[in-house]
This record gives sequence, structure tokens and C-alpha cells, in this order.
Amino acid sequence: MSKVAFITGGTKGIGKQIALTLAKEGYDIAVNYRIANKDLEDTKTKIEENDVKYLAVQGDVSNYEDCEKCVKKIIENYGKIDVLVNNAGITKDSLLLRMKKEDFKEVVDVNLNGTFNVTKNVIPFMMKAHSGRIINISSVVGISGNAGQTNYSASKAGIIGFTKSLAKEVASRNILVNSVAPGFIETNMTDLLKDEIKENIVKQIPLKRIGKVEDVANVVKFLASDDSTYITGQIINVDGGMLI
Ligand code: NAD
Repeated sequence: MSKVAFITGGTKGIGKQIALTLAKEGYDIAVNYRIANKDLEDTKTKIEENDVKYLAVQGDVSNYEDCEKCVKKIIENYGKIDVLVNNAGITKDSLLLRMKKEDFKEVVDVNLNGTFNVTKNVIPFMMKAHSGRIINISSVVGISGNAGQTNYSASKAGIIGFTKSLAKEVASRNILVNSVAPGFIETNMTDLLKDEIKENIVKQIPLKRIGKVEDVANVVKFLASDDSTYITGQIINVDGGMLI
């Protein structure tokens, strides 16, 4: 029986690549998406090319009831979730002095509370199965901080604390919980930045290039696999050495 992977925000950017990489490994795939668009269609086509099952569940991860419904639908279809990747995330950058309280709340609601909302609904099934992998997508700025990103950095640092605490809670049930902290990865999220800012960032990266979505997806693949059975509670930076 194939393993089942559930990826939130799995129709774009890093999440889409994680879904495709795991589909290539033979996982049946469930992706969560917020709004149906051409990305959703393209994800379906590309995943089904791998001869695996595909299910898309609509929902806003910051809404607890949506997450409950998404997980219920996946369990009804597949009967289990072996791997959960909490990937959905947003930015709403500005200096704290100018930051609207709504923008602080929204970023924490999606990135951190979203991770809680989904995991809380998935964990009972993993506990019952005495097995599971949870991979939370954090960010290097959750470790280093970043001017203009108090909301985002706080949410990503929160994910790190969540990962380590949950790893301790569920290790006895053979559920491994880890986090991947990407550095600067080429996606829609980073396309918004001006070229000048991008060039300055590259200067600070020892490997002298912006990361690719595949760089992150390959680490997720490893953390989901049988090659990582003695790794839990870890934060793996995928940042070209940015944080050395
Ligand atoms: P992206 O904007 O391309 O994709 C984000 C995905 O999350 C989209 O599919 C979007 O629809 C989904 N999403 C957003 N809000 C949602 C909600 N409320 N409910 C459900 N889905 C929602 O961004 P990306 O660069 O692919 O980012 C993916 C993850 O990687 C995020 O958690 C992000 O914080 C993290 N990350 C990205 C970078 C980078 O450089 N791109 C660096 C560090 C961390």
C-alpha cells in the first residue's frame, strides 16, 4: 500500500515542488489549496503523470474548521496520512513602527496557528497508526530575525518551538517531527523583491546563488523517508550557508 503525503499550500512554489517530488517517490498525494486557479490544474496534471493518487482539498489553514474538514476528506479517501508537510505561509512585511496590527495577526494566524490547526487534526490518526512524519516549513529568519519581518520571523520562530515540543510529545509513538528552514528560495514570495535587494542577498550567501524549490523539496523527501528514522526535533537549514 502506498504512503500518503499531505502538503498544505501544495499548488504553488515550494509546496508544489514538495508534492511533485513525493509523487515521483510513489506517495499518494493530498494537497490543500486556498483558491482554485490554474496552479491547481497544473499540479493535478503533473502529479497524475506519476501514476499516483491525487486529491485536492480546499481550505484556509488559519481557519480551524476548514482544517478539520480537509483532514476528514483525506481520511475518507485514503484512510491515513503518513506524512504531513505544513508548508502554507504568507508574508506581510513592514517595519514594526508602520505595521498594522491586522498584518501581524494575519501572518501569525496563517503561518503558526495554521501549523497548529492542521497538525492538531492529523495527529490522532498518526498516534493510532504508531507512525508518522511531520515536516514544518519554517525559515532562517525564524532563527536570525529580519528587519521588516517581525510578524513573519515571530511566526517562523514559533514553528521551531512547536516542532521541538511536539517531537518530544510524540516520539514514543514513532512520530518524527522536524522542520526545514529555507533561506532565500526563488518563488512568487521572493519574486516580489527588487533586483537590487536580491543582488545584495546573494552577496551574503556563501554558495552565491538563490536556492531552488528542489533544494527544499529534496530535504523534505529525505525527512519523510526511511533514511531518516533517527532524526527528530531538528531544524535543517537549506540556505546555501547564509546563516553560518
Ligand atoms: P508561495 O507564495 O509561492 O506559496 C505559498 C503557498 O501557501 C501558496 O500555495 C498559497 O496559496 C498557500 N497559502 C497561503 N495562505 C494560505 C492559507 N491561509 N491557507 C492555505 N494555503 C495558503 O510561497 P513559497 O515561497 O512557496 O513558500 C512556501 C513556504 O516556504 C512558506 O511557509 C514560506 O514561509 C516558506 N519559506 C519560503 C522562502 C522563500 O524564499 N521562498 C524562504 C523561507 C521560507
